[in-house]
Amino acid sequence: MFEIVFLGTSASAPSAHRGLSAQVVMHDEYRFLVDCGEGTQRQILRSGLGFKRLNRILITHGHLDHILGLAGLLSTYMRWESVEELEIYGGQWALERVRDLLFGVVLRGASPPIKLNLYEIQPGVFIEGNDFQVSAFPVTHRGPDCYGFLFEEKSRRPFLPEMAEALGIPPGPWRRMLVDGQTASLPDGRMITPDEVLGPQVAGTRLAHIGDVGRVDDLVSVCQGVDTLVIEATYLEEEVEMARQYSHLTARQAAELAVQAEVRNLILTHVSRRYRERDVLAEARSVFPNTRVARDFDMFQVKRTELIEVDLKPEDDR
Ligand SMILES: [Zn+2]
Ligand SMILES: [Zn+2]
Repeated sequence: MFEIVFLGTSASAPSAHRGLSAQVVMHDEYRFLVDCGEGTQRQILRSGLGFKRLNRILITHGHLDHILGLAGLLSTYMRWESVEELEIYGGQWALERVRDLLFGVVLRGASPPIKLNLYEIQPGVFIEGNDFQVSAFPVTHRGPDCYGFLFEEKSRRPFLPEMAEALGIPPGPWRRMLVDGQTASLPDGRMITPDEVLGPQVAGTRLAHIGDVGRVDDLVSVCQGVDTLVIEATYLEEEVEMARQYSHLTARQAAELAVQAEVRNLILTHVSRRYRERDVLAEARSVFPNTRVARDFDMFQVKRTELIEVDLKPEDDR
């Protein structure tokens, strides 16, 4: 399972109710901040998520509405001892701009008091945990090196306790060995292979996150069958020409990708102040009914096939 919290859902400029692009994707003890628009620090505080372990930041591209918050966040982290290391991942162009912002404006030649590592990503897996991985894939938007991210749990074979019972495998380290794919030698001398106690492969949960993007025909295969697709929807179809000009999507185009890629759930974000949320939702749902439009502080659990909304209760709703 992955969890996602939307911290900012507005395109280009904030609105009274929506901050600039930022979301946190969580898996076990891992927390990834995806984009960091201006004002993200305060959204983190309001959400109640806090800064703890929030030290891996993935940047979709180098436009200011996705990166300006990094300056303030670094400034806070530098005075706050609990974060010792900050890792920022992005394409070459995004990192150039992030470097200018952090080393030019925030640090101005001083060496950072915390470890600050900028990692340039290429298409492919760039973060790997025990049971999940994160990969980057290129997307088309204004400027080079724009990326989408695919969060994937690795497929696994579930342990079948009833089979273990039937075989008389005693509690102890043998079950763990079998789960890890090793043959276990029991105290009574029998050898048990993993195949005897593991069920068939079960696919893991997949969450695709696509920031700003201007075309979707090259994204169908990478999004194929994902459990949840998060993607921008900056325009409505009535302004499809403007969407094309600025290399953004209409709600309809985002929904068409969801249909073509046979995803289970669609969440739209990066919405413009020029439209009403219900119009964005209606346009997308007319193509792909299982659509939501994210609001700031919306939280979801992304599971195999299911998308469950969780009540986050931001701080100031007390
Ligand atoms: Zn943007
Ligand atoms: Zn952009």
